[in-house]
Amino acid sequence: MSIPTKSCPQCGATFDDAASTCEGQFDKLLALDHSRVQPWGSRHGLAFSTFAMQHPEGRTREQLAACWIMLYRVWIKGDNRAKLAAAMRERQNLPPEEWGVPALPAAPAAQARYTTTIADLGEFDADTYVHKLEEWGRATLAAWQ
Ligand SMILES: [Zn+2]
Repeated sequence: MSIPTKSCPQCGATFDDAASTCEGQFDKLLALDHSRVQPWGSRHGLAFSTFAMQHPEGRTREQLAACWIMLYRVWIKGDNRAKLAAAMRERQNLPPEEWGVPALPAAPAAQARYTTTIADLGEFDADTYVHKLEEWGRATLAAWQ
């Protein structure tokens, strides 16, 4: 029996392997994203936005608003993620209202419990990643609304 790690103070994740951290797992995911291999590469914006919103410390409201717009438009409004990412690169720093998205809510209280954290994505297996990424994103939106 391994002893789970202490929970992440920001997202509440716990890992079975005491050597794992949210940042360490996100670094692994970024390496997959940046390899441009699918299913990871094309979903980098969603993965980044989800991680950032579950770990808001040190990020500005503007940065978090961009993440909020991306998650809201893809998971609530059903936008095509690639087209949205391209549009957001072209028109940076517009407030959520300009994208038809509610204003960024206040961040969830510290120790908010997300129903899905990066720990639930395991090692980002290709077979399950797309589904788990959506669960992670929707859990994030649910906690922020
Ligand atoms: Zn965390």
